Amino acid sequence: MNKQPTPIILCLSGLDPTGGAGIQADIEAIAAQGCHAAPVITANTIQDTHTVFGFRGIDPELIIEQGRRLFDDMPIGAIKIGMLGSAASALAAATLMSEHPEVPVIYDPVLFSGDGSQLARDELLETVRSQVIPGCRLLTPNTIEARHLAGDELSAEQAARELSTQGKSANTQVLLTGTHSNTPDICHQLYSDGELVESFYYPRLPNEYHGSGCTLASSLAAQLARGEDMLSACQKALDYTFETLQQARQLGQGQWIPKRL
Ligand code: PLP
Repeated sequence: MNKQPTPIILCLSGLDPTGGAGIQADIEAIAAQGCHAAPVITANTIQDTHTVFGFRGIDPELIIEQGRRLFDDMPIGAIKIGMLGSAASALAAATLMSEHPEVPVIYDPVLFSGDGSQLARDELLETVRSQVIPGCRLLTPNTIEARHLAGDELSAEQAARELSTQGKSANTQVLLTGTHSNTPDICHQLYSDGELVESFYYPRLPNEYHGSGCTLASSLAAQLARGEDMLSACQKALDYTFETLQQARQLGQGQWIPKRL
């Protein structure tokens, strides 16, 4: 007998044909937490494990209609947002969020791929700042994305503090990921209301990975949908993500792909 309902996470993410990042990362990471992913594609990409060659937006009406049908049918426990790509996709995500303000939103602000290629059009930033971030429960930027969103004149820590004061319909917390900093160990930091709440340390692994940010944000969404509080959701999702990277495989010729299942 199945007594506990399986938490369902609506994923608004891009498609990465390598299977390393994007929607496939979400589905696998969410399944590994014992939850169910309901996938809605926001952008389509052309890429291999080295680089991104291009991307296209998806019709925003399709995103909204798909999301609405899911909300009518399934008890959605959290929304995970990854690559939006275009301002139109960001507006579609904001529309779904505003129709369900009670559902926590975890947003991984995907602006660049691992090799630094752009995964967002410039006009996306304004829409994300004004329409998406104020309704998010948690943002998971890396240091580059945090500064890009809050202001390049700020340090990454200042940017994370600033972003954690932007919540309007939600108390927006920020998990600043430290992978891109030039430090021997990796330090991830959780900020709330402009203050540092907790630091999480992990040893730096030797390889470059494709989809580590997606793995972290979607496992976090699943842990929050399971009812974990923010600190324990961060700890569990970071531990899980670290394990997937320890077991990662080089399936193509470039970045390694996390082993999530
Ligand atoms: N989402 C999509 C569709 C992508 O293609 C990428 C990177 O290529 C990402 C997200 C971000 O990947 P990562 O988790 O490595 O930051």
